[in-house]
Amino acid sequence: MNSIEDNLNHDAMTTAIISHTDCRRHKMAIGHPEDASRIDAISERLLASGLEYSLDYFDAQAVGLPHLLRVHDKEYLSSLDKLQPSEGLVNVDPDTQMSPQTLTAASRAAGAGIQAVDLVFNDNYHAVFCNVRPPGHHAKRREAGGFCFYNNIAVAAAYALDKFKLERVAIIDFDVHHGNGTEDIFNDNQQVMFFSLFQHPFFPYSSATTANPLHIKSPLRQGAGSEEFRRVVREHWLPELLAYQPQMLFISAGFDAHREDDLGGLTFEDDDYAWVTNQLVTLSKQLNCHGIVSMLEGGYVSGALGRSCVAHIKELAEI
Ligand SMILES: [Zn+2]
Repeated sequence: MNSIEDNLNHDAMTTAIISHTDCRRHKMAIGHPEDASRIDAISERLLASGLEYSLDYFDAQAVGLPHLLRVHDKEYLSSLDKLQPSEGLVNVDPDTQMSPQTLTAASRAAGAGIQAVDLVFNDNYHAVFCNVRPPGHHAKRREAGGFCFYNNIAVAAAYALDKFKLERVAIIDFDVHHGNGTEDIFNDNQQVMFFSLFQHPFFPYSSATTANPLHIKSPLRQGAGSEEFRRVVREHWLPELLAYQPQMLFISAGFDAHREDDLGGLTFEDDDYAWVTNQLVTLSKQLNCHGIVSMLEGGYVSGALGRSCVAHIKELAEI
């Protein structure tokens, strides 16, 4: 007969996917790598994998202003409203444009995070993946950039802390680029431990070090791959997570550190995304966390993005 602990360990995760067709409506310059085909690459690969029959699907809700105001300034949000064009594109930075439906898409992306937290707390989902765009982790409290407008993962984490009275959460960011927006938003917050690995030196040219003990930076040299990634997670992230005891895990799931992704210069493999997710799911159970909310950040080559993301979702769902 199994112990209660064994039974808990063998329970499959109840996992949901949140997305919305509005996320396809944000457009940037022709040929821009952050486009609607990214959402399709993931959903088509999920369909082909046969996994989708084990998952529940939800349409993302639009985000309410109070949820954005936990992590962004009112003036910043008004300036985005004013900047959004009624036709054509406007530049936010040399690599980031707004189109007439940018904020419609961004609202669904940030709203997905709120809904994901609600699914965990109100409907007993163990893990939720948000297949949404635009991404969020470069959006600072008062500044858009790096393809990002609303910081989706920060909106979700701040909501969980506020609404469900959590004391400690962790955000784990394995995108090839440093999550400088998330760092900026939670720099003075003692309730969020933020882990980010990133190619260094590289966009957004963040410092490799920080004085904040809750912000764990793991810079990697160009060309670093599976071995370096797994060492960072095993030797630095997992011990810090165990010591901090977060009550919920949030993942900024960028897949642009993949060796096939030419937007970055790291050499991760599909299996690394499965491995890190497995480590986090195991840790989440060990710490008796409420659940895991994962949100799409980068990943710009459809084959590698679809495969890596489905490997991530498969481990989240323990299928
Ligand atoms: Zn990235």
